[in-house]
Amino acid sequence: MKIVDINAAEKPRRRLKALDYIDTLGFIIEEWRVKCVEPGSEEYDAVYWALRALGCRRIALGRGCYVSLDALGVYDDFEEKPRGEVYYSVLDMLERGRPTPLVRLRWRPTRGVRVWAKLEWFNPLSLSVKDRPAFHIVREEGLGKGDYVGDASSSNFAAALSALGALLGFKARLYLPASTGKLGKIASLLYGAEVVVDESAKATTDLLKRVVADASRLGFTHVNQFTNDLNFESHIKGTAREIDYQSRIAGFNVAGVAGSLGTSGHMAAVAFYFTKKSRSSVDVVLAQPAEGSIIPGLRRIETGMLWINLLDIDYNLYDVTLSEALETAEEVARSDGILVSPSGGAALAAIRRHAERGLASGDYVVVIPDTGYKYLDLFESWKEGGGLREGESTHSS
Ligand code: PLP
Repeated sequence: MKIVDINAAEKPRRRLKALDYIDTLGFIIEEWRVKCVEPGSEEYDAVYWALRALGCRRIALGRGCYVSLDALGVYDDFEEKPRGEVYYSVLDMLERGRPTPLVRLRWRPTRGVRVWAKLEWFNPLSLSVKDRPAFHIVREEGLGKGDYVGDASSSNFAAALSALGALLGFKARLYLPASTGKLGKIASLLYGAEVVVDESAKATTDLLKRVVADASRLGFTHVNQFTNDLNFESHIKGTAREIDYQSRIAGFNVAGVAGSLGTSGHMAAVAFYFTKKSRSSVDVVLAQPAEGSIIPGLRRIETGMLWINLLDIDYNLYDVTLSEALETAEEVARSDGILVSPSGGAALAAIRRHAERGLASGDYVVVIPDTGYKYLDLFESWKEGGGLREGESTHSS
């Protein structure tokens, strides 16, 4: 058996998509060890891409042996986060500046549940979870100087892709629905992207036809975050693996994971990872906007999202209204002094519903996709309509 640097190992001729090596990936996470493989063998390609997705530095070559993921450097990149957080460029920060923080909240939905919040606004480009798929897609598809790249977005992905365009020298073109706030449009323009706000589109999904047609007419690469497996893969390598590493350091067992759904990229990956790691004992809690509620960045599951529907994952799905999401965000603002996005508030509200049904206990990790500071207008109009008043809280924490 020989353990070699994965970058020096023979690269398979074909780049497998996540859904093509998903069974191997699931098996490796579940076992936390991997079979030695020989280049050119049937298993090699799937193992190679699964280990890459898991951020492993090394691969084990040979036959008839098994090696632990720890021996393959599965967490090495996190261990090497630069001392003093000094970076030599923004690109360097994107490459080495992980993980984002995991913080235990004082806010608790019930006595028996502790909540750890993963603060995704610590991603530097869009101050959101969307830096991850944008960067991974651009990197893995080799997009760079002189390229022309486009997609539809509700806001955060637009900001992230536009920023990468500025950083790496490609031209970005973003399509936003009319309902989008200022963020996606203004931030993308400031980063130098072309921005199309489609007045007839209510949601990002309404833009797809136009983006596909424009891509062939104008000649840009349509990266399609909604179906591009690199979106899902970026969260296996990033969000999910980071939570795993951080819970190990903090010394707790992940009893449940919670979050919200847009493309389903981040929560499908987190749910898949921990379902495998825990051999299906983890509790997956998801929030979607209640019928008639608009929560920025989120969609209802039946509007069509790939990964969460395709993977065999058990989850508990809760309909959350916008006011419930904002109210929960305000509770956390008052208990912990941090302002989470409405989508983060929705995820926390879903945990509370789950706990109130007596279904939750132990340590839950909730992914907070971005900061509430981007949505002050929304909080303001909710406040003007009644909101929570000074000194008032509807739930004990
Ligand atoms: N929350 C916010 C604020 C978002 O912008 C998004 C996606 O754009 C999400 C949640 C959902 O993330 P995902 O697309 O990974 O499901």
